[in-house]
Amino acid sequence: MSSAVVVGAGVFGASTARELALRGWDVTLIEQYAPGTVRSASGGDTRLSRAAHGDADWYGALARAARTHWLELQEATGARIWEPVGLAWFARHENGFESRSRASLERLGVPHEWLDPEAARSLFPSLKVDDLAGVLFEPEAGVLHARRATQLLVETGEQAGVRYESGRCVPADEPRADVVVWACGPWLASLFPGLVDVKVERRDVFFFGGDASWRGTPGFCEYDASYYGHGEIEGLGVKVAPDLPGRAIDPDTVDRTPLASWERAARAYAARRFPSLEGAPVIGTRVCQYDLSRDTHFIADRHPERDAWWLIGGGSGHGF
Ligand SMILES: Cc1cc2nc3c(=O)[nH]c(=O)nc-3n(C[C@H](O)[C@H](O)[C@H](O)COP(=O)(O)OP(=O)(O)OC[C@H]3O[C@@H](n4cnc5c(N)ncnc54)[C@H](O)[C@@H]3O)c2cc1C
Repeated sequence: MSSAVVVGAGVFGASTARELALRGWDVTLIEQYAPGTVRSASGGDTRLSRAAHGDADWYGALARAARTHWLELQEATGARIWEPVGLAWFARHENGFESRSRASLERLGVPHEWLDPEAARSLFPSLKVDDLAGVLFEPEAGVLHARRATQLLVETGEQAGVRYESGRCVPADEPRADVVVWACGPWLASLFPGLVDVKVERRDVFFFGGDASWRGTPGFCEYDASYYGHGEIEGLGVKVAPDLPGRAIDPDTVDRTPLASWERAARAYAARRFPSLEGAPVIGTRVCQYDLSRDTHFIADRHPERDAWWLIGGGSGHGF
């Protein structure tokens, strides 16, 4: 039987370990904190899952395959990890990211609609559309309960035979297995300095207390303004996340108290795009970090000197 050690129980490591066990491998999964720790990128409350990725058909197809696997996991376990709310892309221009995505969804056969801004207003309790050229709606997109989904991958992986171990594993430990997968997210760059080119940048996320009409509304992304979020889900509140360049941080030591400047930015966006959220209280926050590769593509490659070692990461804000 082939053996593998997987280091890191975020979504990349947990899903790799589980899949290898299901394929008959002898697998050990090592995690330094806990599966779904809020210090990891996979430990967020929610993550959007959508197929629009500009003209990158490959990512669109990958996202659709991931969606199928998440729904299968939900079906097999009975645990709710997917909210089937759809997702609206607010397009400021006729020929921007959204129209390139539209052409890609067309090629991939992914259900979508191009809505006139006025027609899109019915998707949300309030929506200001005066600066929008259109809205690309993906009815089959959804919101994942990310932390729960990651923990479920570990639990079902263990049921499939994965041995879970707590501890920090570093290259000098020389883990013994036929294959070692380093799936360490934002920690990958410091474990392999000079080899992995990933920026680890802070992102602050805000949940606003909207009224009951926000329940079940779609996720949203505004690519040109760099904001995204979703409606009320499981009492978390309405998520509004600025996707603006953030400070470089150390994921072990950063103080996860949100910054006032990011809160002001989230409030201003919420009030401008969704007027009914003006003055709504912040009822929850998270501080997380992206692991941004230079071109925002995922990293999945062999170590140049160690044939049995694989490095995977660079989720770059779209790893789920
Ligand atoms: C605010 C925010 C919003 C996002 N929104 C979305 C979204 O809407 N849709 C989407 O698809 N993606 C989104 N992402 C990106 C997505 O969350 C990440 O791409 C994904 O979670 C990365 O998973 P990972 O397994 O690579 O890393 P992580 O989840 O960080 O996991 C790495 C794990 O490895 C462990 N580890 C590290 N080093 C060691 C070591 N030496 N020994 C043992 N264990 C170790 C860590 O403790 C951690 O648990 C978002 C990210 C953030 C921060």
